[in-house]
Amino acid sequence: MPVTPQETPSVAPSKVFIKTYGCQMNVYDSERMGEVLNESGYVSTETLEDADLVILNTCHIREKAAEKVYSELGRLRKLKSRSGRDMKIAVAGCVAQAEGEEIVRRAPVVDLVFGPQTYHRLPDLLDRHRDTGAAVIETELPVDEKFAVLDAPSTKPVKRGVAAFVTVQEGCDKFCTFCVVPYTRGAEFSRPADRILAEARKLVDAGVREITLLGQNVNAWHGSGLAGHDWTLGHLLDALSDVDGLERLRYTTSHPRDMDDDLIAAHGANPKLMPYLHLPVQSGSDTILKAMNRKHTAAEYIELVRRIRDARPDIAMSSDFIVGFPGETDADFAATMDLVAQVTYAQAFSFKYSPRPGTPASTEAAQVPEDVKTQRLADLQAVLGKQQAAFNAACTGRVLDVLLEKPGRQKGQLIGRSPYLQSVYIDAGDHVIGDTVRVAIESVGPNSLTGHMVEA
Ligand code: SAM
Ligand code: SF4
Repeated sequence: MPVTPQETPSVAPSKVFIKTYGCQMNVYDSERMGEVLNESGYVSTETLEDADLVILNTCHIREKAAEKVYSELGRLRKLKSRSGRDMKIAVAGCVAQAEGEEIVRRAPVVDLVFGPQTYHRLPDLLDRHRDTGAAVIETELPVDEKFAVLDAPSTKPVKRGVAAFVTVQEGCDKFCTFCVVPYTRGAEFSRPADRILAEARKLVDAGVREITLLGQNVNAWHGSGLAGHDWTLGHLLDALSDVDGLERLRYTTSHPRDMDDDLIAAHGANPKLMPYLHLPVQSGSDTILKAMNRKHTAAEYIELVRRIRDARPDIAMSSDFIVGFPGETDADFAATMDLVAQVTYAQAFSFKYSPRPGTPASTEAAQVPEDVKTQRLADLQAVLGKQQAAFNAACTGRVLDVLLEKPGRQKGQLIGRSPYLQSVYIDAGDHVIGDTVRVAIESVGPNSLTGHMVEA
């Protein structure tokens, strides 16, 4: 992300390279780290070799994600010794939170380790490292302090594209038995509504047209709203839709248990709320859902989707699935396939179960063999892929509103997003990034749509 210096410094500013792994919340956090460092005179670089500070903002959700970080640290160690430069190396995010000092033991090249709730202290951590020369490890979970600091008025305008993320909720109290999030991100915390509204207005002033509200359990967001009322996410979305110049709203990731009536109603009543909902179910087997501690059944999920579709019939549904959870039998997996057939998804993310240290499921005796997981994932993804292709194909011949976001590969081409979050390629004519145009969809590829503009 671009970081520009606040004022012309007398010496060359230090450069920071931030590499982001994992979810959109990490993307948001990396942007905030860039802004915090910008206040201390850093500028961003896209060239690793130029960096004075390299930050790996990590994800711990599955095993491979953590291993990728250690491989990257190996490459950085070689780069640092080859160049002979005093490059500082930091590990941030959920691997930092979960592994703490272990990171420095395994990769002594690391100078700073800090978790997702302490990056607002980055300048202070860098000073401490400079003063002592020793590795600094900061893995407390003071989430309210982080937002209090980040919410303080910035001296600089925000520079973003036309679509931005805003974290409104952090952490999780649900303790699904497979998941590290409650341990790495801490307890549930909702940012105050007035701060969220202020950030949204600031983003819109800087050219943003679409905001996606983020949270590990975004629909668990609650707070005291304007005029002293208690708000849930549906109310917050309504208040945000009154922000002039803001055209589109989305939110992710939701838990089925927190889809309340107001939020479902907002999907029917709020024209700025886009018809796309990521609502992870993980499994279609009641036995597995219970073992996962999801606290709902497959039938309850299917009924929930029916109510959401009653409110907004064209809504594109998305989900996360885990295959090979401990104890998952062929019958349990068949129940997942059955749920997928009943719901039909426009998009979905599916994973093999990955045992995470410290989570209850990781010590279950009945771990599913790797080859079974591989086969189930392939079977599930084949069906989900077909459903996605069918959803996209059904858009052919329709006219969709497309928010233009970035240049395409060809001259004059721009790429935008449909209401259903599909990428749409068009020849944009006189239109520019940030415009919303009407597009007649002509053809459909595996991951994108192509069309031509029609009169509004
Ligand atoms: N809060 C969201 C929910 O309740 O559905 C999910 C957030 S989690 C960061 C994103 C996804 O990662 C999950 O929905 C799940 O499918 C996947 N995931 C989490 N832990 C996993 C594990 N141990 N193995 C495989 N996938 C996992
Ligand atoms: Fe993890 Fe989501 Fe379950 Fe919380 S609700 S423990 S974030 S999967």
